[in-house]
Amino acid sequence: MNVKLIGNNSQMNTDMKKIILLLSALLALAACKHTEAPGYIVQVSLGGWHSPDYSADQIVARIDSVSRMIPVQKVIIGWSIDEDIYQVVGAFLHNKGIQMLLWLPVFAETEEMCESEPAVDLWGRIPANYDLAAGEGFRFNCPSSPENAAHVVGIYDKYFADCGFDGVFLDRIRTQSFVSGVGGVLNCGCPLCREKFAAEGVDLEEVKASWEALEDAFFNVSGYRPVGGFSFYNTLTAKYFEAKGHIVSEAVGAIADSLRARGLEIGMDLYAPFMAPFVGQDYEILAQHADFIKPMLYRQTFAPAGMGFEYDLLKAAVPSATGYPYFEMNAEFLDSQLDAMAPYPCAKYPGIEINYREGVVPTSPEYVTESLEHVMAHHFDGAVLSWNIMETPDAHIAVLGK
Ligand SMILES: [Zn+2]
Repeated sequence: MNVKLIGNNSQMNTDMKKIILLLSALLALAACKHTEAPGYIVQVSLGGWHSPDYSADQIVARIDSVSRMIPVQKVIIGWSIDEDIYQVVGAFLHNKGIQMLLWLPVFAETEEMCESEPAVDLWGRIPANYDLAAGEGFRFNCPSSPENAAHVVGIYDKYFADCGFDGVFLDRIRTQSFVSGVGGVLNCGCPLCREKFAAEGVDLEEVKASWEALEDAFFNVSGYRPVGGFSFYNTLTAKYFEAKGHIVSEAVGAIADSLRARGLEIGMDLYAPFMAPFVGQDYEILAQHADFIKPMLYRQTFAPAGMGFEYDLLKAAVPSATGYPYFEMNAEFLDSQLDAMAPYPCAKYPGIEINYREGVVPTSPEYVTESLEHVMAHHFDGAVLSWNIMETPDAHIAVLGK
């Protein structure tokens, strides 16, 4: 009996030891996770489809120097069709354990490369481009056209399939914004999209009539919550934007799935949660097709995708619309957008701008530090440092490594 008891005690001790070991391992893991350095993703903008703005050697040297300041997890690079550059850069990155993702525009900027069906507004017009004279304009293409979708995937297959990419970062996965006025947002209204809206229970003729009757009041809102966004006063407006989110985001999801079937990781460039519904980005749908999302939480960018810039354009496009609160682009507002992106199940890398351009992107080391502190306090996977590491002031990178 004694022997048996001793045996049981020793068995119990072994079990206890196992449990204690397991607990310590879990605690160590939790502590490690907690103190883990943020994962940075950097972007290299090569400047369009033509010959790249930088040589492979310049890019390699730059990433090498940046990775001495901060831990770089992934590099998003594109979208020149010069394959050699990716071979050289990719070999260097993979040697360092850094992933290389192709920066690929989806619903805009592809017309140089393939046939594409343009997106039109509810009146059948192609919306005005943003400052075309300054070379900053681009046309958007219909999100519903199966040919458009096939052509974008075709561009990957034709030019990039053998370049050693670990993934793709999908850009321009939306309609035009208020950059092109109301017509940019009430878009796309082509026959194919009309059918898709009808399937969602929304008659675009009724939407058009409602806008023509109400004008700016079509956009009136009755409330705003950081998580959940604006509540539209007009029921049809609410139904329209819900349907638009489904149509555009499901089209993006299908393209993402085709690319994932090629063994690629999928990243997505998104408007900040509060503006996303206007451009057809339904985070809930998109997150199901993405490995990671990068909402562009730019507070100091006075150009498209800048949060305050886009919001001001909304108010300028529909000046009599009521219910839109004043948002100061401070750290509190950044927190509200970080809270809004938190619930989605994919990895989250908020995009903060670290580039500088006088008058357009007046960032500073203090601004970059403040943005990063608020991003990291949300314990997401990391951050995307936007939008071109080749031209970022070193002082804006060095502060991140501290
Ligand atoms: Zn369409």
